[in-house]
Amino acid sequence: MKEPLPERFDDLGLIEPIARAVREEGYERPTPIQARAIPHLLQGRDLLGLAQTGTGKTAAFALPILQRLVTPTPPALRGPRPIRVLILTPTRELASQIADSFDTYGKHLHVRTVVIFGGVGMEPQKQALRAGMDVLVATPGRLLDLAGQGFLHLPHLEVFVLDEADRMLDMGFIHDVRRVIRLLPDKKQSLFFSATMPPEAQALADQLLKDPVRVAVAPVSSTAEKVDQELAYVDKADKRALLLELLRDVGMRKVLVFSRTKHGANKVADHLDEHGVGAAAIHGNKSQSARERALADFKAGKIRVLVATDIAARGIDIDEITHVVNFDLPEVPEQYVHRIGRTARAGASGYAVSFCEADERELLQAIEKLIRMQIPVLEGHPFEDRAPQPLRPGERVAMSPQAQMQARRDERRRAEQANRDRRGGGHARRDEPRRDEPRHADPRHGEPRRDPAAVTRPAPVAGAPRPAPAARPGDAPRPDGAGGAGRRRRRRR
Ligand code: AMP
Repeated sequence: MKEPLPERFDDLGLIEPIARAVREEGYERPTPIQARAIPHLLQGRDLLGLAQTGTGKTAAFALPILQRLVTPTPPALRGPRPIRVLILTPTRELASQIADSFDTYGKHLHVRTVVIFGGVGMEPQKQALRAGMDVLVATPGRLLDLAGQGFLHLPHLEVFVLDEADRMLDMGFIHDVRRVIRLLPDKKQSLFFSATMPPEAQALADQLLKDPVRVAVAPVSSTAEKVDQELAYVDKADKRALLLELLRDVGMRKVLVFSRTKHGANKVADHLDEHGVGAAAIHGNKSQSARERALADFKAGKIRVLVATDIAARGIDIDEITHVVNFDLPEVPEQYVHRIGRTARAGASGYAVSFCEADERELLQAIEKLIRMQIPVLEGHPFEDRAPQPLRPGERVAMSPQAQMQARRDERRRAEQANRDRRGGGHARRDEPRRDEPRHADPRHGEPRRDPAAVTRPAPVAGAPRPAPAARPGDAPRPDGAGGAGRRRRRRR
């Protein structure tokens, strides 16, 4: 008979400082991949994890790894801390995100995490490698460059994580990944994560893993089915007015509005406030006390609307969010599922409405592909006359002159960087997806990029102030009459 899965973090065998950090993030119970993987990983087993971003896979490997790091290295070791954990991941966004997770979950421990990726200066990364660390999160190209220059030594490596293996292969990194694997000691714990298992990925897993535990979890897209979703085509200039119009529905009692940028979040909250709808914005530029106050007011029902960026909303634990509004569509399709998941939890249904301006129609296509459904369109709103038309299948969004200029600037910068890399002795590497490749989830979209010089991550100080504990989606009982204030829906196409 199969053992029941642990339902509480307390049942997973995690030590108190880690369990506390998880509680402070507002996580109430482990996700399926965490419940299945963590006990085996704590025992030192290799793992083949079939899971995509959004399933909680980062914590599934970060928590047991952090626990392992609590055991100190043998005292005989002198000099800088040796690299004990290496996490290889395809993009700089993912690398930063993983390093952030190690900081968050390890905030009550003294673990030093460094992230390195291409496209930024090498000098700070060399210094960080000289200074030593416990955990290195890296993209393959830059890692090999630094190894080639003699800055990377891995004889004391204990754990190797290959993240998003299928994506790594899609991006043409297979040879680089193999070269990295050749740098690793034989004896180590290996974890392999991939959303799909094409034969090439399987071959790589077979080469890397010894007697692995295999854990496969449902893709994140399935959670979208529980939420009642609607889509409003609307001109960019009409979005705020449409939001106000929707908020005339008194059933929208606790509304979480997602904005792609901090500035945008402020503008939306101010606009609502000016028009008599209690609202506050939360994002990275707000002080911790301002964020805490906004959350407390929202929880207590003193304000109806909280406008948040993705990163600020990460883990927000507010029960009874009646509606999620995507004021801007997220650039990463998985983020759409996270966002709308704030209004529905296990069994309960929720309600989400997404605004789509002309430039966002390709993002919409990517989202609909992920969730494998067309979102029903809200019909008859007052700004329909100026709303963009849906894209036909295969049709592309024409770029605005500004976007074309930006694209040309990006292209020039990339070419210059590639030249610099070549001149710097290494090969020009592709640590970044090309324009035509899918970008990865970067929940900090719209937030400033990590300062390239600040890639070194000092061990956090226990007790240092952290952002307000964030949270989990709460049960969101459907308000009576929810579903768009009696507006009609139509199917497109
Ligand atoms: P990942 O699949 O690792 O990218 O995680 C997706 C999101 O889920 C992240 O925003 C995490 O903060 C969040 N998350 C991870 N584990 C849990 C959990 N047990 N409960 C609630 N949220 C979680």
